Amino acid sequence: MLETPEYLSPSSISTYRDCPMKFKFSRIDRIVEPPTWQTHLGTFVHEVLEHFYQLDGDARTVESVKATATERWTVGEWEAKVNELEKKLGTITEFKKSAFECMTNLWKIEDPQQTELIGMEYELFTDVEGVRMKGFVDRFLFDDDGKIIISDYKTGAIPNPRFKSDDDKYFQLLAYALMFESADQEETSKLQLLYLKHSANHEMSVTPVKLAIARGVIVETKEAIDQACATENFACNKTKLCDWCFHKPYCPAHQ
Ligand code: SF4
Repeated sequence: MLETPEYLSPSSISTYRDCPMKFKFSRIDRIVEPPTWQTHLGTFVHEVLEHFYQLDGDARTVESVKATATERWTVGEWEAKVNELEKKLGTITEFKKSAFECMTNLWKIEDPQQTELIGMEYELFTDVEGVRMKGFVDRFLFDDDGKIIISDYKTGAIPNPRFKSDDDKYFQLLAYALMFESADQEETSKLQLLYLKHSANHEMSVTPVKLAIARGVIVETKEAIDQACATENFACNKTKLCDWCFHKPYCPAHQ
């Protein structure tokens, strides 16, 4: 019998639903995946925007995001981090260009001078229907009625619907909406997926039915994880996406 994780995050629930074996590798065996070009790009852009939104509204300009990026690049020793990547998909200049494109595309999605965020990288640690949950919300703000809008920056491509849709990403934000409800008694009205690379804002309104479905998914997945840990039986979900899975070299489905 394997020990169940102390808490689940919205993304770990998605991982289990994608592939139970992948969940076991990451959350039970704790095999840490090394950073990639894409994860570094996402982390760097998130870091810059987090600091950029701490500036006064009037000061949020393209010039100031560039200055913030330059400062974070040095403070975070990003040049060394990108150079250490096992698979480099380009030069340092190309990395900076992609990151800066994502940052400046923000102006095509929203007016940063008029966007007042209430929280960024906000930690939530609470119970949803008895399931211990922990995670960090990229950012949230209030709408005109004082309800929460949760948004998530995406620096990767918009999912190809042939393989994956936005549904899974919305599930994760719905899970955060439930966590806000449980931790702070706050109601969420809207979810936003901000695809910076494509200057696209995908939005979804939150309804009681969608929340009920997400609640059901959380409870159902927790039960499945408990059962898998008790029996030490984690299924492999072998699909075309396995080609992008870090664990493929030792995954039983590919031996
Ligand atoms: S290679 Fe495929 S089946 Fe194996 S853990 Fe990864 S996603 Fe799951």
